[in-house]
Amino acid sequence: MAATPMRFSGGHGMDMAQAFPTQARVVIVGGGVVGCSVAYHLVKLGWRDIVLLEQGRLTSGTTWHAAGLVGQMRPNRTMTAMSRYGIELYAGLEKETGLATGWKQCGSVNVAATPERLVALKRTFANAASFGVEAEFITPREAGKLWPLMRTDDLTGAVWIPGDGKANPTDLTQSLAKGARSGGARIFEGVKVTGFAVTKGRVSGVETGSGAIACDYVVNCAGQWARELGRRAGVNVPLFSAEHFYIVTKKIPGVTPDLPVMRDPDGFIYYKEEVGGLVMGGFEPVAKPWGMDGIPDDFEFQLLPEDWDQFEPLMRNALHRTPVLETTEVRQLLNGAESFTPDGNFILGEAPELAGFFVAAGFNSAGIANAGGAGRLTAEWIVGGAPSVDLWELDIRRFAGFHANRRFLAERTVEALGLHYAMRWPRLELVSARPLRRSPLYDRLAAKGARFGSKMGWERPNYFAPAELGALAYGFEKPAWLPFCLEEQRAARDGVALFDQTSFAKLLLKGRDAAAVLQRLCANDMDVATGRMVYTAMLNARGGYETDLTAIRLAADEFLIVTGTAQATRDMDWIARHIGDAFATIADVTSSWVVVSVMGPLALTLLRRVSPDDIGGFAAGETREIDLGLARVRAARMSYIGGPGIELYIPSECAAHVYDTLAAAGAEFGARDAGYYAIDALRVEAGRRAFGAELGPDETPVEAGLLYTVKFDKGDFIGRDALMKQRATGPRKRLAILALDDPDAFPWGGEPVLRDGAPVGEVTSAGYSRGLGRAIVMTYVRGTEPVTREHVLAGRYEIDIAGTRFAAVAQAKPVFS
Ligand SMILES: Cc1cc2nc3c(=O)[nH]c(=O)nc-3n(C[C@H](O)[C@H](O)[C@H](O)COP(=O)(O)OP(=O)(O)OC[C@H]3O[C@@H](n4cnc5c(N)ncnc54)[C@H](O)[C@@H]3O)c2cc1C
Repeated sequence: MAATPMRFSGGHGMDMAQAFPTQARVVIVGGGVVGCSVAYHLVKLGWRDIVLLEQGRLTSGTTWHAAGLVGQMRPNRTMTAMSRYGIELYAGLEKETGLATGWKQCGSVNVAATPERLVALKRTFANAASFGVEAEFITPREAGKLWPLMRTDDLTGAVWIPGDGKANPTDLTQSLAKGARSGGARIFEGVKVTGFAVTKGRVSGVETGSGAIACDYVVNCAGQWARELGRRAGVNVPLFSAEHFYIVTKKIPGVTPDLPVMRDPDGFIYYKEEVGGLVMGGFEPVAKPWGMDGIPDDFEFQLLPEDWDQFEPLMRNALHRTPVLETTEVRQLLNGAESFTPDGNFILGEAPELAGFFVAAGFNSAGIANAGGAGRLTAEWIVGGAPSVDLWELDIRRFAGFHANRRFLAERTVEALGLHYAMRWPRLELVSARPLRRSPLYDRLAAKGARFGSKMGWERPNYFAPAELGALAYGFEKPAWLPFCLEEQRAARDGVALFDQTSFAKLLLKGRDAAAVLQRLCANDMDVATGRMVYTAMLNARGGYETDLTAIRLAADEFLIVTGTAQATRDMDWIARHIGDAFATIADVTSSWVVVSVMGPLALTLLRRVSPDDIGGFAAGETREIDLGLARVRAARMSYIGGPGIELYIPSECAAHVYDTLAAAGAEFGARDAGYYAIDALRVEAGRRAFGAELGPDETPVEAGLLYTVKFDKGDFIGRDALMKQRATGPRKRLAILALDDPDAFPWGGEPVLRDGAPVGEVTSAGYSRGLGRAIVMTYVRGTEPVTREHVLAGRYEIDIAGTRFAAVAQAKPVFS
């Protein structure tokens, strides 16, 4: 291999004489803010043999030209805690390393210019208190006092967050690098990683122009190069670059370093002070992907050409918000490349394709703000062998193979960049790169008025509405689709409804040890008779949910595992990792099976019309192969929404026939197609928990009230010890189902819940119950002492919806059972 020039990082008291290593415990690829933060945190956790390789010089990728805004408020508790940790770190790092980070706590003013944005701001403000972030709701006048250059006459309100600020990305990175070196990490510049060594399915080394390094772990912190670098290891890192802009102005009178950061998301723009002038940048709704043919090798401290046409929408809004720009000279229009992911969240974790290969990349223009937290969590994940908190929204396993498609990524990036300041409407559906994954019933359902949402690339009916109504607008109030959803609920509760749930992930576990593998992984007893279907948790060592799923025992040595649409990669990875030396294999068979759920009191009557088999003789949890029309299908007596119902597992090629047969026979009973919004409301009514909402790595069956699905006496399983302990001591949070008093209150999820006036959690799921004529929600009630069922039921609850508190009553049992 040809040697490439190598520079030892000599910037800050570095030992220039160190030899290029041949072995390391961890090799970090990429010397941007994220790679340096991972190195810093690994040495903080006591790991010494760390090597960081940077193909150019530290910061020379995207980091050096970031604007450096650092805010605290994120969509949820964990992510907010993560950015708050970053601020703490950036504020204290200089003391430790002697190198300033440029951290300045100047606060931030976040303004609303429309009534809808005001509601969004109020919702954020309500969460701030719950997440422990100091924030103040202020008037436009007060906002104008804090940020005098701003036009305020058209504003509707603002939030002031005094703890926010800005950092100098280059200084911060160098300070983290110095902290890492002081802890023993070695940093090499001018070294490009060109490939990887793999031994027995685990990464075992990196190849570079300067020689190979054997290692136990690799961390891909290669920023916008991370997708290509991942590909060299067979790892899918779905991100794509886009051009990203800001202007830098000459000095403006009155602009001092104390000027807060200002965000005007309705104008898609932000501002901060820099050398007495302003940096103004933003997130245009229609972005410009870059690097279609790959990113040039020598892209070191480089910018992209100015593009005033692309920047024009931001500039227009900025001239409106800050008229002083009319007469201020612009020093530079900076165009930098940054990477964006399909959902706007960054990517962390161990790759499902290759053990020991970690990724921390795709920071969607928030890498400076999040590097501290992401570096720490990645280091904890590597050292601890598992994430220390629930990182599902950031987890690399939320993606699947199709996300690697470059056209998909480029099209999605056009939309993803703008998500930063877009109105995050409840149940917002992205529109780009769709439709992609479709059930064989898609066209039939579309013709019947299905309005589709997208999950894991699957098109799924959310609800059915007449085509002539056109697109129904988003909003925070009771939605226009509610009447249709209520009709679908009525069919499922009083008659019969058909749900296409084909997007369920389906995994086939096969081999003589299949049952033993499941017994070790599952909390429920899986060693059941052939034909039985079992609902179970798979837990981590802390007793938290890695997933919840149902498994059908098809034969003594064969199980069909049915799990959430979004969990295909995650669950496959978890199970495959734990097969170990056991005699079993697992395969994704999602595409083989269409799932139609026939739900409601008339479900069995309908099925009897289309099948000669004894449907009524099924016990709960039983499955059997039956005739249906001309096809053979597997019918399972199972209902996620509560009440009677049968799930049908249909060979994909027979799906159209089976559906047509059901729909034709169902006409007599008023059978109705129904969608996921109805499922959501009905399952909340029935008290069914969902992974990603009520269940996740930080929730246990004790906390979730699902101990009845745990069989302690079946023998050992992962998480058993932790659960036994928690069962004895009592949980610090417990699931509650609350019904709101006011029929007009409409929670969407995420709203703070107060018990006797004090915040105890957020709404994890919300549904509008046709049965009650009111909304019902699930939440966790947290406490500093063990939280008992009695404590939950004794509370006086309120839900803060955009600043208005609505009374809610804890339910002793699900409202539908
Ligand atoms: C205009 C603009 C404004 C921004 N403003 C903000 C802001 O206000 N706040 C904020 O939080 N974020 C902001 N960002 C985003 C922020 O800059 C990035 O999210 C962050 O810098 C990403 O850091 P990173 O370490 O992941 O990537 P990078 O800094 O790009 O580091 C990756 C490194 O990996 C190296 N590398 C790649 N491949 C290899 C290889 N094979 N071998 C060795 N080395 C390799 C590269 O040379 C590069 O140095 C902004 C971005 C832009 C473009």
